[in-house]
Amino acid sequence: MIKKFLKRVFRKSEKVKTVGNAQVIPFALHGVASVQISYGAKKVTDGLQAAGYQAYVVGGAVRDLLLDKTPKDFDVATDATPEQVRRVFRRSRIIGRRFRLVHVMFGEEVVEVSTFRRMIEAEDAQTDEHGRLLRDNEFGDQEQDAARRDFTANALFYDPSSQEIFDFHRGYADTRDGVLRMIGDPVVRYREDPVRMLRAVRLSAKLDIKLDVATAAPIAKMKDLLDNVPEARLLDEVLKMLLSGHSVECIQQLRKMDLHHGLLPLLDVIWEQPRGEKFIMLALRNTDDRLRQDKTVSPAFLFAALLWPEVRTAWDIRVKNGERPIGAMHEAMDEVLAKQKARMAIPHRHDAVMKEIWLLQQRFEQCSGQRPFRLLEHPRFRAGYDFLLLRCASGEVDDELGLWWDEFQDASSERREEMLQPEKSAEKKRRRRKPRSKPTAGASASAE
Ligand code: ATP
Ligand code: MG
Repeated sequence: MIKKFLKRVFRKSEKVKTVGNAQVIPFALHGVASVQISYGAKKVTDGLQAAGYQAYVVGGAVRDLLLDKTPKDFDVATDATPEQVRRVFRRSRIIGRRFRLVHVMFGEEVVEVSTFRRMIEAEDAQTDEHGRLLRDNEFGDQEQDAARRDFTANALFYDPSSQEIFDFHRGYADTRDGVLRMIGDPVVRYREDPVRMLRAVRLSAKLDIKLDVATAAPIAKMKDLLDNVPEARLLDEVLKMLLSGHSVECIQQLRKMDLHHGLLPLLDVIWEQPRGEKFIMLALRNTDDRLRQDKTVSPAFLFAALLWPEVRTAWDIRVKNGERPIGAMHEAMDEVLAKQKARMAIPHRHDAVMKEIWLLQQRFEQCSGQRPFRLLEHPRFRAGYDFLLLRCASGEVDDELGLWWDEFQDASSERREEMLQPEKSAEKKRRRRKPRSKPTAGASASAE
């Protein structure tokens, strides 16, 4: 009898219900438990629901949990307005001008809460002359909120209290099948926001799922629309690709889709350097590995790597023309950075660190006297050393040098003394004749 009852209950809970236009997937089918939701996001959905509002975990987090990946963050969508959300949570603040969101703080965790919004109907929409949406900030209901999202896998709503998933676009089936599919007509959706083409590439590479054929097909023809997207937004998306932990796949995919040349100045750096490609791909693979091991990656290090082949070429030319190495390095760095700045490729704020990493490279070649000891004390030693290892791995510098520094760092004082190489006599003489009274302009930070 009990068995029969349990069987009935169990069967019922395994069934997909339909509520309005949504399919409601029960826990017994999707298997995402509420304990997998972050502390803060659970607090937010609980708090809003207790205050009488609808509240769900949405977007990337639900998708990632279904794919057995760890979500980067947990976003919440609700029918409460930003002001109403603020009233429920004391430690919260409204952010954003274009579309106002609420950040709710729980110690370290910040939960982003957005009010359901809708796509503005074609006739009311403000678009540029290419059909790009300039405004999409109207409140809406849950169904409209699902429809304005990009991919079906990104439009799932998870209710932590019932452990149900609300699905308006068959995103559950797509996610389970490993398919990234655009909601609606891909041509229209790319026109509204061309960045979705890059998101398609990034998300399919990052999640290791395939792009649906109809979603991928228009990209080749529509890629020129990316020219009309503000540079800062493109840079944001490219950075997300490079720091996704799957940059190598993203780059390969961009190339396959012919989405690379002339579109993104930062990426052009990669394509334009046949000589440096090996080094750059190694740097990207190294970045991917670090991110997968939860190690930090500094954008400045990555940029320094992307531009290094160019810096080296400019430096080589100058040294061959008889310039002194350090002066030549300063000029080469300035030339390459000025070129990047003109194209808005790499944010200026990273210049100082990039320069330090580059300048340190010459100092690693000096393994005699007091110089290696002073280099060890340099605040960017670690970044410079990691960079040196990349140069070794790409064949640019002898492996011996990397090994020497590997040992020197951790060696005892006696061993360090043993390791020091004899000073070259010419170098000694020069140093004696020219004491350190006249450093090269601007070289004081890290070069000697
Ligand atoms: P990630 O794991 O990289 O954070 P994500 O899908 O969560 O991926 P976000 O940029 O955090 O990406 O966006 C959160 C959600 O907002 C997405 O899941 C999607 O539903 C929606 N979204 C983001 N960008 C767009 C866009 N350009 N067009 C439509 N919907 C978008
Ligand atoms: Mg996200």
